[in-house]
Amino acid sequence: MAKGPRLTRTIAALRRAVGVYRRAGETVALVPTMGALHRGHLALVAQARRRADRVVVSIFVNPTQFAPHEDFGSYPRGFAADLKALQAAKADLVWAPSAEEMYPEGFATRIEPLGAAKAGLEDRFRPHFFGGVATVVAKLFTQVAPDFAMFGEKDYQQLRVVTQMAKDLDLPLKIIGVPTAREKDGLALSSRNTYLSAAERRVAPTLYRVLKASSARIRQREPIEMVLEEGQAEIARAGFALDYLEARHALTLAPVTSRKNGPIRLLVAAKIGKTRLIDNLGV
Ligand code: AMP
Repeated sequence: MAKGPRLTRTIAALRRAVGVYRRAGETVALVPTMGALHRGHLALVAQARRRADRVVVSIFVNPTQFAPHEDFGSYPRGFAADLKALQAAKADLVWAPSAEEMYPEGFATRIEPLGAAKAGLEDRFRPHFFGGVATVVAKLFTQVAPDFAMFGEKDYQQLRVVTQMAKDLDLPLKIIGVPTAREKDGLALSSRNTYLSAAERRVAPTLYRVLKASSARIRQREPIEMVLEEGQAEIARAGFALDYLEARHALTLAPVTSRKNGPIRLLVAAKIGKTRLIDNLGV
């Protein structure tokens, strides 16, 4: 039987394993995840495989990016299935630290990203989120010391925040954004999609449909504000509680009102029942 990825649980064991790759002159790509892996995560692993000699996948459900009322306790976990999927995807190493290994007693540092992180959008609804993400991602980067790190466009603001942080802190790696993997009906794959009831699952693709239609209309020079208002209304009619549907500059995430201020990215977040979904699309 083919050998699965090597599993490391401590920083010391991780460094020993990556050290062996380094001494052999091999390049390393990191794919940070919270587990419950699906085809979207595996697209990141496939890209990593193409870029580097060795692929490290981290699996860590990071407590500091969840607010107390959020789903840390119930977040889907399936470690055995994840390992099997990563074996098939030919990952070399799984880095799965405990919370105590990541945040030992006395841990007292937090990275507070500005710029894209403070552009509203997710920050308005999850003010704890990007600080938690930036801190854990900076730790993952220094633990693994990869040449490349893969992030999904699915979490577009996160991709921008992490790219900015790597630049600002002179971290010696390249951040690679990977396009969003979708179901046939357009719904962006997400570990949280398992929360959806059958009825919610049927309306969930509305978000992508609205993004696509809005993007096409903006390209055809319809006024952005009107297009967004109609999109917002359609999402609400489908039964969502909308957090935002906005047009932003694709790199700075500054608000844009005209195609001249582009390149434009449309971003949406909305709740259906108890499940919060996010998605985005370039214009
Ligand atoms: P998560 O485990 O949800 O924190 O996601 C880990 C990484 O996978 C992040 O960089 C996500 O953006 C990325 N990812 C999640 N869903 C998708 C998707 N449908 N397509 C592409 N990348 C994704």
